[in-house]
Amino acid sequence: MNDKLVINRAQIENTLTSCAPDAVAVREVLAKARQLQGLDPEDVCVLAALEDPELLEELYDTARWLKETIYGRRLVLFAPLYISNLCANECLYCAFRASNKEVRRKALNQEEIADETRALIEQGHKRMLLVAGESYPVEGFDYILKSIETVYRTKQGRGEIRRVNANIAPLTTDEFAQLKQAGIGTYQLFQETYDAKVYAEMHRAGRKVDYEWRINAMDRAMTAGIDDVGIGVLFGLADWRFEILALMQHIRWLEQRFGVGPHTISVPRLEPASGSDIAAHPPFPVNDTDFKKLVAILRLTVPYTGIIMSTRETPAMRRETFALGVSQISAGSRTNPGGYARQNDYESQFSLGDHRDLDEVVRDVAELGYIPSFCTACYRLGRTGRDFMDLAKPGEIKKHCDPNALSTFQEFLIDYASPETRAVGEKLISKTLEQMEAPARGLVQSMIKRICEDERDVFV
Ligand code: SAM
Ligand code: SF4
Repeated sequence: MNDKLVINRAQIENTLTSCAPDAVAVREVLAKARQLQGLDPEDVCVLAALEDPELLEELYDTARWLKETIYGRRLVLFAPLYISNLCANECLYCAFRASNKEVRRKALNQEEIADETRALIEQGHKRMLLVAGESYPVEGFDYILKSIETVYRTKQGRGEIRRVNANIAPLTTDEFAQLKQAGIGTYQLFQETYDAKVYAEMHRAGRKVDYEWRINAMDRAMTAGIDDVGIGVLFGLADWRFEILALMQHIRWLEQRFGVGPHTISVPRLEPASGSDIAAHPPFPVNDTDFKKLVAILRLTVPYTGIIMSTRETPAMRRETFALGVSQISAGSRTNPGGYARQNDYESQFSLGDHRDLDEVVRDVAELGYIPSFCTACYRLGRTGRDFMDLAKPGEIKKHCDPNALSTFQEFLIDYASPETRAVGEKLISKTLEQMEAPARGLVQSMIKRICEDERDVFV
């Protein structure tokens, strides 16, 4: 076996040219998906090629059923924190690329990071994704470690950030070990495109030109002991069908090597970015129908892997894809350093599709019947990697994730929600409790009672 992941392009092209999406084949694949064991590349190809509206509805129905069966009606919420837009790379689609003179450069100092953290805590956030360009101030990689420490140390009122994930440039194995030591939750990194030729065209200078250094980053992270990793594709750079089959090869590779695949998959679509022609005119734009289709396909393909949807998408698209399989969303996001506390005008990394604050998103999500969750229990109890995947089976999720979602939601409603959101949320909690069966209902009732009696951070 190779000790480095190599995407097998010929195999993908062969699969893509040999599948026929007739109704019988599609329905066979959908029946297979209902066994909750995932799908093979040939199955994915059948679904990716289908266009018949009736079959498309059947695909969506299956994705909705699967989402509901495995994840129930929870949606985990987080916010990104952009600590720096310094970058030595030349990614043609990104506003932070080194040569872009339209962006004024800023790396937040530790005091500013604490201010940003306080602003996020005041909104009610408990989970943060730390984001940076690929170039650090004088202290180098220590800047990242110090920033994580600052976030965990910062308290505001009764709140704190309980889980810090990071989306930063690939590290050496030794640096990943330090990142783990700093208490990182998930390490997230998008390959952008798995098509090596397109990758070379899009990345013109800096460390990121090295496709292999990037594609093997998760192996180094997992070798260093980080067992929750998040992968993703920047959709719009190459054919999305190719990308999801390549993504599957990446997933299988990690499963074979480490006994567990990625914790999450992110599905960013290219958004306009200052000074970028590519971002304004993606070479392979993914239209809304294909985007929903690809989310549904991913849901069926890797049933137990979280799917993350960011505020790049509009509220309408986010609502539609919650039902199809999204399990985590960002909310109230700013993509410029200092964007939360100072409302400053440093340029953003890309345009947002959803500008609403956390309270509004929570209310909207709750009105749709989803339970906003701020849970960080698994990570703090050491239920990560393989242990998390063992837990992520339908019955187990009901025992842990649903109670924790409801207790963290109740905590949010008391400490941070507007009266309007609190009313919507409490109605949802009562309704959810009515529908729960014993013993789960008793457990949740006692957890909520503890929160109402002023205890915080109650989880199982
Ligand atoms: N600098 C690190 C890197 O490139 O991996 C991490 C942070 S980078 C700010 C996070 C992600 O933003 C990138 O991986 C890329 O997928 C995404 N991104 C960059 N430009 C974008 C755009 N115009 N629209 C949507 N997403 C974009
Ligand atoms: Fe820098 Fe990341 Fe933007 Fe590329 S995507 S220019 S590496 S911040």
